[in-house]
Amino acid sequence: MATSDIDVLLVGGGIMSATLAVLLHRLDPTLHICMVEQLADVALESSDALNNAGTGHAGYCELNYTPANRQGEIQIRRALEINAAFETSLQCWSTLVKEGILQADGFIQRVPHMSAVWGAQDGAFLRKRYELLRQHPLFADMQWTQSSDTLADWMPLMMTGRSTDVTMSATRVAYGSDVNFGALTRQLVAYLQKQPNFSLLTQTKVSALKSLAGRGQRRWQAKLQQLANGEKQTLQASFVFLGAGGGALPLLQQSGIPEAYGYGGFPVSGQWLICQNAALIGRHHAKVYSQAAVGAPPMSVPHLDTRMIQGQAALMFGPYAGFTTRFLKQGSRFDLAKSVKLKNIKSLLGAGRHNLDLTKYLIKEVFQTHTQRMQALRVFMPEAQEADWHLAHAGQRVQIIKRCHQHWGKLEFGTEIVASEDGSLAALLGASPGASVSVKAMLDVLQRCFAPQMQTSAWKTTLKELIPAYGESLIDDAALLHRVRSNTLSTLNLAG
Ligand SMILES: Cc1cc2nc3c(=O)[nH]c(=O)nc-3n(C[C@H](O)[C@H](O)[C@H](O)COP(=O)(O)OP(=O)(O)OC[C@H]3O[C@@H](n4cnc5c(N)ncnc54)[C@H](O)[C@@H]3O)c2cc1C
Repeated sequence: MATSDIDVLLVGGGIMSATLAVLLHRLDPTLHICMVEQLADVALESSDALNNAGTGHAGYCELNYTPANRQGEIQIRRALEINAAFETSLQCWSTLVKEGILQADGFIQRVPHMSAVWGAQDGAFLRKRYELLRQHPLFADMQWTQSSDTLADWMPLMMTGRSTDVTMSATRVAYGSDVNFGALTRQLVAYLQKQPNFSLLTQTKVSALKSLAGRGQRRWQAKLQQLANGEKQTLQASFVFLGAGGGALPLLQQSGIPEAYGYGGFPVSGQWLICQNAALIGRHHAKVYSQAAVGAPPMSVPHLDTRMIQGQAALMFGPYAGFTTRFLKQGSRFDLAKSVKLKNIKSLLGAGRHNLDLTKYLIKEVFQTHTQRMQALRVFMPEAQEADWHLAHAGQRVQIIKRCHQHWGKLEFGTEIVASEDGSLAALLGASPGASVSVKAMLDVLQRCFAPQMQTSAWKTTLKELIPAYGESLIDDAALLHRVRSNTLSTLNLAG
């Protein structure tokens, strides 16, 4: 069995590994980086266009990023943080567009982001949310309306055939975005493949991972299996990133690092209704989000979504969540069972006991008929016809289960980086807000795993070149935000 020595092993060829590879390559072009992907190409799992919703999550339309506390006060901090994190991605992509590495129109499009709610109670929530958010420079361009003329202008398809008995309220940010994360990943990897120290192995699975004993800096040994012919090889690396999406948890468990103790995963599948009527697709140009049902996980907030894929507009509604035992869309039905270990069983039981609403919700979703799904769509689009829509499978999300002293274990819907204390291994778990904040997430990996290098002026200068506001706060500095945003909106053709 051949053994190769490299500096950086990236397991998985999705948006996260691609982003980390570009950052590391720019920071230190001498690093030997190898990306290993088990499928035939990169970006065929969650990062693929139709496996996710392609929303450039900025907190403009997602009501779950501004929850109300027990006193009914709306909390906007998370929306501010997500907005600033998305601006970090926009800055990095803008720099790469200016350098000719990325082509903006190949992966990002201007699609207004809207929130729509019905009735007095949700209307009051939306109005209050709007008033709080628009006071902040990050959200200063948000608009609000209850006027039926304005609503008909913003979302004509949703207003056709709508009864005026129930008041509808909406907010809008005109320069929201639709991002094809699959196309973005492929553009990033195409750039990496032109670099001498980067290699990509596709149809190759990392089947085992172990820490090599020895003095000094820790190294990792990964066993690789070529899926086409069964050939095996090993790779040794001083840094490993598990950007394997749903495949990250099993490898993290194998790594044996104490930081992985207690982690488990709960997979939730997704489905969309996809519109096949070109006339309808042409009458909607927005991502319209609403409130989630009771017990629904935050990523199942329904939305009627314009997508731009390879220059073609598409229209989707969903996602409908479902129960699955697979951690990857192309994974095994034994994934969930195999992830149960002595080290995480307590967390799994604790999380199970305290999320009965979610369990009930998922069971209800699984047994929905096409007619029931259409009823949910008609809340958005009163005149929707069954014949215009078909059901398609989206990607899987593995929600994080982790230790919690009060309830043994808890289920989390965010993204988390689990890293070894010595910084030689990091894994990305969870899926929300996901690909939109990939640059910020990978900067966090660098902070955790390359802390000394991140302090050097050479690395700081490179990061500043890539992300002009690196090290500064877009939340606290309105003048900086203004400069950064005018640049990203114009470079990425989002200004309108
Ligand atoms: C239904 C749905 C809707 C979403 N909507 C949005 C959205 O609107 N906006 C947003 O920003 N994010 C969204 N997300 C989240 C986003 O898609 C993910 O956060 C992002 O794609 C994750 O990228 P990744 O690189 O971590 O994983 P992936 O793209 O899944 O890549 C992981 C790769 O690792 C490979 N792999 C796994 N195990 C191994 C192994 N052992 N050896 C080799 N290769 C391996 C897999 O084949 C896969 O290609 C959504 C996700 C879903 C499921």
